[in-house]
Amino acid sequence: MTMAEGDLDTQGWQVLDRAHYLHPFTDHAGLRQTGSRVAVRGEGIYVWDTEGKRIIDGLSGLGCVNIGYGRRELVTAAAEQMLELSYCQSFFKTTHRTAVRLAEKLTSMLPGHLNHVFFQSSGSEANETATRLARRYWDLEGKPGKKLFIARELAYHGSTHMAASLSGIPPMHYAGGDIPLSNVHHIRTAYQYRHGAGMDAAEFGVVAAGWLEEKILELGADNVAAFIAEPAQSAGGALCPPETYWPEIQRICRKYDVLLIADEVVMGFGRTGKWFGLYKYGIEPDIMQLGKGITSGYLPLSATVIGDRVADTLIDKGGEWAHGYTYSGHPTCCAVALENIRILDEEKIIENADATLVPLFKAGIESFADHPLIGDARCVGLMGGLEIVKDKKTRESYAYEAHIGDHCSAEALKRGLAFRANGDTMSLMPPLITTPDQLAEIFAIAREALDATA
Ligand code: PLP
Repeated sequence: MTMAEGDLDTQGWQVLDRAHYLHPFTDHAGLRQTGSRVAVRGEGIYVWDTEGKRIIDGLSGLGCVNIGYGRRELVTAAAEQMLELSYCQSFFKTTHRTAVRLAEKLTSMLPGHLNHVFFQSSGSEANETATRLARRYWDLEGKPGKKLFIARELAYHGSTHMAASLSGIPPMHYAGGDIPLSNVHHIRTAYQYRHGAGMDAAEFGVVAAGWLEEKILELGADNVAAFIAEPAQSAGGALCPPETYWPEIQRICRKYDVLLIADEVVMGFGRTGKWFGLYKYGIEPDIMQLGKGITSGYLPLSATVIGDRVADTLIDKGGEWAHGYTYSGHPTCCAVALENIRILDEEKIIENADATLVPLFKAGIESFADHPLIGDARCVGLMGGLEIVKDKKTRESYAYEAHIGDHCSAEALKRGLAFRANGDTMSLMPPLITTPDQLAEIFAIAREALDATA
């Protein structure tokens, strides 16, 4: 179907959308009943649709639009780079200055051993790079038996075959293909509300880390390549580990010579209130993945940052590593990332958010603890989760068919707030540039939406 765009109203766009555009993670039959909201414009923390309705983006897109919508400096950086050098492959002994600058910049912001950067376009691809690299490392080190990966339940690492296998969200595993792949094993995650009731948080952190040790012993340390985890889990329902968890994980990985891979695709660039989750939790990964906030979502880019231990082996013993993407280190994406980092840095966006917004956010999230629908209210930095339960005493959840979280999302959207349901947990991840007044409005609408759901 072709139509002159000027003729289209919201319904017209919805008809075209239904006819031709398959959306990610969407029940298309359901979408046919409701139709899509058609977004047209964004500025700051707001997005407007074809009906002229203003929506507060309480989710920073998908946890990526950290500096907000509509920053012209990023547009200028992209345009200038496109005019100067619109594309450059870096396969055949060629490089370009913008990717080199960005690689150097990233390593200067990270702990000393994280010295090498590989670029891709998405978080999923970064996880492919990280896991292929871990396997390559052990082959080159003469330990080819170290083939297995341990990931966590409710993890989200992406949608490619390996990334979906690493993910621990059940629907990912019956969405087609041999997923999870047989080299991936899952352990319970640090989800105190469900797995550590009645335990002191510090004690629970050690117990939860112990599940990794149990799994390594069950599989045999000689067979385990790496443990991969998000510093705190976002798509799994805003699961934030106690302070004792990561040091213990670190100790266990060292003890059994298992590589530690930190997926910072969401946590990186300020979500925890620090530049990177590893500074919040004291993680020293062998490999870490960045994405999303690296460009504040203005262009697709991800980075796999590799520690000296793994990189030295790859470089000194590896010869050519047959891995890479056409768009690895794309000049325009790298230019936008550099400009995004400059803005975050010069405007002290992360430091200011940590000083003023994070305490308000924590207080706001915790104020929901007494809501009749909320069993658990948890957060780290500017990522929060409100877990809806049917019975606060027994912690019983609603039946899946009740789609309780989706109802709450719909109530919030009616009132002008994007407030996402991850299963039964309502998530909030506002842009880092949100003002205290805007934050108060977000919480007021969230409460109204929950009241209307109850
Ligand atoms: N890792 C984490 C922690 C994520 O949350 C996501 C996406 O939400 C990914 C990886 C996958 O990133 P992408 O959707 O860019 O492939």
